[in-house]
Amino acid sequence: MQDWLAAQARVRRRRGVLRQAIPRTAGRAVLDLASNDYLGLAADPRLQAAGIAAVERYGTGARASRVVTGTQPVHEELEAALCALTGQPAALAFSSGYTANLGILTALGGPGTLILADEHIHASLIDAARLSRSPVGMFPHADLDTLAKLLAARTQPRAVVVIESIYSVLGDAADLAATAALCAGHDALLVVDEAHGIGVAGAGRGAVHAAGLAGAGHVAVTATLSKALGAQGGAVLGSAALREHLVNTARTFIFDTGLAPCSAAAAAEACRIIAAEPDRVAAVGRNAALLAAGCGIEQAAGAVQPVPVGPAQRAAELAARLEEAGVLAGCFRPPSVPDGISRLRLTARADLAPEQLRWATGLLRSLLSPTEAAAWATT
Ligand code: PMP
Repeated sequence: MQDWLAAQARVRRRRGVLRQAIPRTAGRAVLDLASNDYLGLAADPRLQAAGIAAVERYGTGARASRVVTGTQPVHEELEAALCALTGQPAALAFSSGYTANLGILTALGGPGTLILADEHIHASLIDAARLSRSPVGMFPHADLDTLAKLLAARTQPRAVVVIESIYSVLGDAADLAATAALCAGHDALLVVDEAHGIGVAGAGRGAVHAAGLAGAGHVAVTATLSKALGAQGGAVLGSAALREHLVNTARTFIFDTGLAPCSAAAAAEACRIIAAEPDRVAAVGRNAALLAAGCGIEQAAGAVQPVPVGPAQRAAELAARLEEAGVLAGCFRPPSVPDGISRLRLTARADLAPEQLRWATGLLRSLLSPTEAAAWATT
């Protein structure tokens, strides 16, 4: 095993895909364009106060599964706040967006359920589909004609279609109305991962709400509390019947310790702030436009502006050069994206000033080779 580990490490270094989990911002003045704190709420004093109050009242951990003694009033408060924000009838909090995705697809899946998924869904949904023991079909990104054919040819009694509302790697938004109508016509459930939608799209209430689909029985939403909501955790939103089914069958709900009270309270506070402060949400869009214009790219639908680079090694190199100069940029490269379409990932947080964004994009442009600059000018 040791030899294999060393060989693997060599390959990662050679291919420029080495990742490190190290503190990137501690003790340094840097401009963070890499995190997912889209609304700048993670350090908001109101979320901090809500979290601290919950720690004092309920303790630091949930102590048990939600179906044993781990459910506290703060979990119910969070679920009600999520419903109020998104217009959904019911919500169920999980310990992460990852476990929420595993929970819903494994609870709905099995040999009698066909799962059809967009090829660009997040790794957690891919893992969920695999774990579900369902027959799984992938359709080309946003290709509703192929999806329609696959749905029409299904032999299983049930079908679940899995998409994201905003794809963070490609930066585009799904056609929710058309996909939901297709699902309704084929008696399929549409599961929409709104990790990058809630807090950002539809005045912060999410793209599903904006499409008038909140509360539609054939549409369910999964969410993370760890991006725009500035906290930690995840949730499934949908009908009361779906919630009850998950409480009884979702293994990542039943066999996982409940969400920490501090995270639940902070996320509930974030839901209230998002509804009350539309300017904060609007600032994400304004900053996204500035970032895109500064990089000369088409503005992506959400907070994340993916800047195409190509080779993984070059994307990593540009990210490293930016970091040396004080800008933290994300880097999508294998295994997050297929080989050859690596990209930088710049996040348009609401709490960034226009001058900061102009400076960062100017810096990035100054690092480009003439060929890259020419290619970018024509995109
Ligand atoms: N879905 C999508 C689309 C995501 O981007 C992420 C986070 N990277 C998740 C799910 C997982 O959410 P969490 O980080 O809360 O586990």
